[in-house]
Amino acid sequence: MLTYYQLFYGLILSSSQTLSSKTQLGFSGTEPRKIAVIGGGVAGSTIALRLAELGLDVTLFEQGPSLVNGPPICHLHAGGSFYREITDEQCLTLLNQSIDMMRVFPQAVNVRPTVIAVPIADSGSPFDILPRLKKLQKNYADLITVQPDKQVLGEPADYYCTFERSELEALAQKDLPEQITDNSDWLIPLAKHLDLDSVKYPLILVQEYGLSGFRFSATVSLAAQQMPNCQVKLNSKLVALSEQAGSKHWQLTIENQTNLTQEVLSFDYLINACGFRTGLLDNMLKAPRQRLVEFKAAYVAHWQHCQGHWPEVLFHGERGTPNGMAQLTPYPNGYFQLHGMTQDITLFKDGLVSSNAQTAQPELPSLYIDKIDKGWPEPVVKQRTQGAIQHVAKFLQAFSSARPAANPLFGAQQIPGDDPKLRTSDVSFYGDFYARTEIVKAPSALQAADTILQNLIAGGVIQQPISAHINQHYFPKTQSIDLKNVVELACKIAEQRGYPQDLALKI
Ligand SMILES: Cc1cc2nc3c(=O)[nH]c(=O)nc-3n(C[C@H](O)[C@H](O)[C@H](O)COP(=O)(O)OP(=O)(O)OC[C@H]3O[C@@H](n4cnc5c(N)ncnc54)[C@H](O)[C@@H]3O)c2cc1C
Repeated sequence: MLTYYQLFYGLILSSSQTLSSKTQLGFSGTEPRKIAVIGGGVAGSTIALRLAELGLDVTLFEQGPSLVNGPPICHLHAGGSFYREITDEQCLTLLNQSIDMMRVFPQAVNVRPTVIAVPIADSGSPFDILPRLKKLQKNYADLITVQPDKQVLGEPADYYCTFERSELEALAQKDLPEQITDNSDWLIPLAKHLDLDSVKYPLILVQEYGLSGFRFSATVSLAAQQMPNCQVKLNSKLVALSEQAGSKHWQLTIENQTNLTQEVLSFDYLINACGFRTGLLDNMLKAPRQRLVEFKAAYVAHWQHCQGHWPEVLFHGERGTPNGMAQLTPYPNGYFQLHGMTQDITLFKDGLVSSNAQTAQPELPSLYIDKIDKGWPEPVVKQRTQGAIQHVAKFLQAFSSARPAANPLFGAQQIPGDDPKLRTSDVSFYGDFYARTEIVKAPSALQAADTILQNLIAGGVIQQPISAHINQHYFPKTQSIDLKNVVELACKIAEQRGYPQDLALKI
């Protein structure tokens, strides 16, 4: 009897004149090769879907009760404008990866721009940012000339635009529009509340959109359900790992987190996508690796008096100082997510740690591990959220009436190497059958998936002819997941995790 995989590949083979009938895609011998992905965050889920969409046999193990439950994502960095300190090259990479992310996971994107302001108190100038934006705009224009289907950020001419103080003053007098018909409409609610003396001009509007963590979680869960060759094992933690002597197989000990039973399973290729705990698996293999881990948090506030369609608003500032960047991310019905890059809001004392010669796993202070594993003390939630509200209210006085509305969105993320400013990275390999993902920003997960795919081909885990098909089968099932079903499931996920459903709704 034909297996699912043989049927799948048989279909591809029958449609291709170039492949020999003896060639079996994704096979080495007669059995499909088994791939294990450990960690169902953004990286692990994206990689599992990428491989499963091609018909490969993938098992995704996640220790938590649902997929994508790690540190938050709210912003799609389509140009890296948050990071004045990174290279233009990283910004271009983030732009291109974000465009691909929008095409694969359109359900998770909140299409509204970001307004960037440089405060008077900051030493920088808005004019420092403009040359890079011009480069990004040109890159986007060139890209869509060659690949018109990548035009997901509107017209290149509208990728960014600037607003002088006189324009803000005029916009402040306008009525709030029911619907957005022009980029300047996004500035109206901001112009009505911004202390116009607190920032330098021009303000910059850029097409950097929002990315919903809850809808991302829902999309990958629904997509995986469509593919019988993508098994998702929730509440399943990898606790031990060994290489079967001489056989090039991995033996994984998986512990069920509900009843603590263990089973030992065998796989041909292992993908470590454990986020900030990636180093624990490296240690099991005695695979050295230099990396950083940083604990950070964002806060949820409700602003009862909120009116109009808000853009995301970013006030630049020097990281780690009391004037650190302030970020206001809008959600429907008056909810906002807040970041403040100060030690009292988003950043934490001793919250950035490094690996060393003895361990590939940077050790966070136990206080932060407890926060991740057990939650936050209520007074700290209130104090930090209130601090975040006041940080934004320095520029938008009326926002001081916003109130803490939920637990923080928080977690730790890893950064490979020793540069805490690095924002683009994807995957590294150790030996022939072990990949570890090391993404700093969510959109880099797609690059990680493609690099692993190439490694699978190069290592003979899947056979060469599949490369002829990797672009034809670019997430067709994932892309077609119905938005209505995604929103419905995302609202349930938000509720189960103790957050307002409004954070899961589409803007
Ligand atoms: C406060 C904050 C805000 C952020 N905002 C953004 C943003 O706006 N945009 C953006 O692009 N990025 C943002 N990031 C970064 C983003 O969250 C990370 O890039 C992303 O989560 C990394 O994904 P990952 O899949 O590598 O790791 P994770 O999301 O951490 O996933 C790893 C998974 O592995 C599981 N796991 C670990 N060990 C095991 C094991 N032994 N067995 C089984 N499962 C295991 C974990 O439970 C987890 O689900 C933010 C990060 C923080 C901290």
